[in-house]
Amino acid sequence: MPKLSVIIPIYNEEGNIPALVERLKGVVDSMNLSYEFIFINDGSKDNSLRLIKDYSEQYPFIKYINFSRNFGHQIAVSAGLDHCYGDAIVIIDADLQDPPELIIEMYEKYKRGFEVVYAQRSKRAGETMFKTLTAKYFYRIISRITSINIPVDTGDFRIIDRKVVDVLKQMPEQQKFLRGQIAWAGFNQTYITYDREERKAGETGYTIRKMLKLALDGITSFSDFPLKFATFSGFVVSGVAFVMILYALYSRYIIKDYVPGWTSLMLAVLFLGGIQLISIGIIGEYISRMSANVRQRPLYIIGETNIRKEESEQ
Ligand code: UDP
Ligand code: MG
Repeated sequence: MPKLSVIIPIYNEEGNIPALVERLKGVVDSMNLSYEFIFINDGSKDNSLRLIKDYSEQYPFIKYINFSRNFGHQIAVSAGLDHCYGDAIVIIDADLQDPPELIIEMYEKYKRGFEVVYAQRSKRAGETMFKTLTAKYFYRIISRITSINIPVDTGDFRIIDRKVVDVLKQMPEQQKFLRGQIAWAGFNQTYITYDREERKAGETGYTIRKMLKLALDGITSFSDFPLKFATFSGFVVSGVAFVMILYALYSRYIIKDYVPGWTSLMLAVLFLGGIQLISIGIIGEYISRMSANVRQRPLYIIGETNIRKEESEQ
């Protein structure tokens, strides 16, 4: 029987886990597969771990990895990918915003020879205007400034082939931006569309800070555009400065009217200062990520798990 792994990152999802297990189990039971659910508890502060462990005693196909602290959603999914056994692997959120029933449709396409089937959101329900707008523009900006085809309005909800997981495992970077890495990997990719539902219980674990980190990780991992922008603005500002130098010399020696120069001086200083700081900041974003990778720390620390090593390496 073909094997399916379902990877579910968990951060404070006690209110969603029972319904999720129920619905997921219903779906995969109808698919004639052998399957496993891997829950990665990413430092939840609620009862999520207890719940998952109870389920894992009740159902042998439920596995868990408990992180020593919160490492973030992308890293939680990466840990699941490192430990899964499936030929096909599903990545899904725990809050039921990604309807498990869609897995059937995605798996159909997978069986027709697509190594990646992602789910594109045509609508998003129950999310703040801020989230919808920032997400919309983020996806459009990143797809413009990268040379790979990162699909717009698409999160990590998808089904991928073992081949893709093997590629991902060879990518050692600390800044995980899986939807970009999967696009980068290539293969045959296709998609289905769906209306994203509301989160069923609890609240989002993606704070603005975490969203910003994800966005910057994605951009710096797949694009040099910001660096080029810094260089470009350096040239533009230098050009403007050159014109102003000519003007200053002209007013000093030709029209000899050079005292009231405070405004232009101030503007030039502020403008230059701003461009310089922005450019240093951009360079800093890249350097800080380089130094994180040079340190070569493990990506995550597992506190405990019920997955035996051989199991995920077969
Ligand atoms: N999540 C996680 N670690 C985090 C934040 C979130 O593992 O630090 C999980 C969360 O439990 C959920 C998924 O990642 O399964 C997506 O998170 P969330 O629903 O909070 O994000 P949103 O849908 O609001 O973007
Ligand atoms: Mg969500």
